[in-house]
Amino acid sequence: MMRPEHQGIGMTSRRTRERLVQRLCDKGIRSPAVLEALRNTPRHIFVDEALASRAYEETALPIGHGQTISQPYTVARMTEALLEGGAVETVLEIGTGSGYQCAILAQLVRRVYSVERIAALLDQARVRFRELGVRNIRLKHSDGGIGLPEYAPFDGILVTAAPAGLPQNLLQQLAVGGKLILPIQNNKGQVMVRVTRTSDGFRQESLQSVNFVPLIGGMI
Ligand code: SAH
Repeated sequence: MMRPEHQGIGMTSRRTRERLVQRLCDKGIRSPAVLEALRNTPRHIFVDEALASRAYEETALPIGHGQTISQPYTVARMTEALLEGGAVETVLEIGTGSGYQCAILAQLVRRVYSVERIAALLDQARVRFRELGVRNIRLKHSDGGIGLPEYAPFDGILVTAAPAGLPQNLLQQLAVGGKLILPIQNNKGQVMVRVTRTSDGFRQESLQSVNFVPLIGGMI
């Protein structure tokens, strides 16, 4: 994933990424594969150049169009929750945004599909993936609430914008044993939820509180 020109210097250097990985470890991220993917991914490529020096801080950053790149801990935790137990080969992400979460997933599974409603963000992400030489990502400009029925079922679906309730279309596109990770709004705020499809239904677990932008219908 990391070409020499993406290694970074100073606040974007390998050493800065190493410190980020150490902080994630301290906060409870345990999966060596997930930590390695974050270590190997130049997050500064996924934000505006003016923000590159803040790319490895534990914070969400603006990516334009009123959207944000999720904070590294949230990316790591969602990815870990998706990969825990069972083999995961195909993943659908809803909300490509900067493409950072997608690039992390691409290092851990065989194929990633990602859907984004804002064409300008999708175009930028596409350029980044090409620069990084990532080849196992398929992008689509579409309303993620519909999912991606033409490629279903998926072993995992990760939603990076908060819907009002459980999206039924996405549940139906999960393979048996597959997991849907998403932020859900409840009366106390947003919680990250994992829904696992079983042979006779769905099992739901609440993981932790999170703070995502809302899932919005329609495309621009
Ligand atoms: N995974 C992203 C996070 C982006 S923020 C990253 O790593 O940077 C959430 C994204 O979801 C935004 O880009 C927003 O435009 C997108 N989004 C919101 N509603 C959507 C919908 N219905 N379908 C597809 N994308 C949506």
